[in-house]
Amino acid sequence: MSGARRHEWYAGASDTGLVRPGNEDAYLMEPPLFAVADGLGGHQAGEVASTVAMETLFAHAPKRAEAKGLARAVRAANAAVIEAAEQGRGREGMGTTLTAAMVEGTRIAVAHVGDSRAYLLSRGDLAQLTQDHSLVADMVRSGTLSPEAARQHPNRSVITRALGSDPNMVADAFEVQAAPGDRLLLCTDGLTGMVGDGVIAEILKTAPSPKAAVARLIAAANEAGGHDNITVVVVDLPAGEPRENASAPAEVAARADEPRRVGFARAAWMLAFVAVVAASVLGVRAYARTQAFLIDEGGRVAVYRGVPGEFAGVSLHWLEHLTDVPVAALDPVTEARLARGVRVDSVEEALALVATYRAQASQGTSEPVEPAPSD
Ligand code: MN
Repeated sequence: MSGARRHEWYAGASDTGLVRPGNEDAYLMEPPLFAVADGLGGHQAGEVASTVAMETLFAHAPKRAEAKGLARAVRAANAAVIEAAEQGRGREGMGTTLTAAMVEGTRIAVAHVGDSRAYLLSRGDLAQLTQDHSLVADMVRSGTLSPEAARQHPNRSVITRALGSDPNMVADAFEVQAAPGDRLLLCTDGLTGMVGDGVIAEILKTAPSPKAAVARLIAAANEAGGHDNITVVVVDLPAGEPRENASAPAEVAARADEPRRVGFARAAWMLAFVAVVAASVLGVRAYARTQAFLIDEGGRVAVYRGVPGEFAGVSLHWLEHLTDVPVAALDPVTEARLARGVRVDSVEEALALVATYRAQASQGTSEPVEPAPSD
């Protein structure tokens, strides 16, 4: 399902980079469906997760470029990754990002979970279509971190949403009306963690073909250090008439000659829609601010204000403390619960629990601590 195809209008590749021992990324090019995934879990489990996600996405993908259907396919992929772990394929705790796009003429449906990204180069302007589900992206959005600092942040790889853990996971999904000749990029953080948007834009602008763009993007990430697996898929949208299928809406063809404005008008509408959803979230958000939970973050116990997961695609938690208590020093039951998040009624209660965890960690006891019921 990967590798070069006979067509020239799209290309993709995955590269191990210069540091990682293996490649846990995966990508899919089955036009009109394209996707990238960044597996998590190590010891080949991440590779299993990203591969299972791709297989399932492909099997469940809708026929048309529509966001709802694509989101359903991503939910199926999530269930398949969870099930694979339960059946001993891969292992417990494995997961994967997934950024998928369906292209129909100049219309693009996108479904997305995690910190892989979709970008659109439209008349020389690069726009990031997806929002990262990551700790640092939350911090950038809340104004506590600059985008530049985010790329250097020690917790930059901590993602707040992935396939493979939460059966109720929600994918971001939306449709974009692009312009003829636009260039779509899907990529994992092995590219965006190493190379800034300016360089990405320049390469997408100047590369004569998707294949050339893919090669240059991967080379740029490796020249910058290649710290992670790098996966990119580049798709050129048709320059004139919609490329395919008689069932494409007539209005898409009709708009082919008055491009740019359509793209931006739709983008503006999308932002307005997001604003409405955000407003409806405010009530839930007020409640969430009174709650707290503890969770394993990079092997240490972290205290968050809020509730795990998202409501209407908006995350409702804010990091309060990243403690120095190592999760591995706690008993297995607590460790397992921390992997999913232990909910409590207040930050104070969370801090009291941290104190008991800390005591347990320093004594090296295996006696289980039984905190307040989670979820
Ligand atoms: Mn990665």
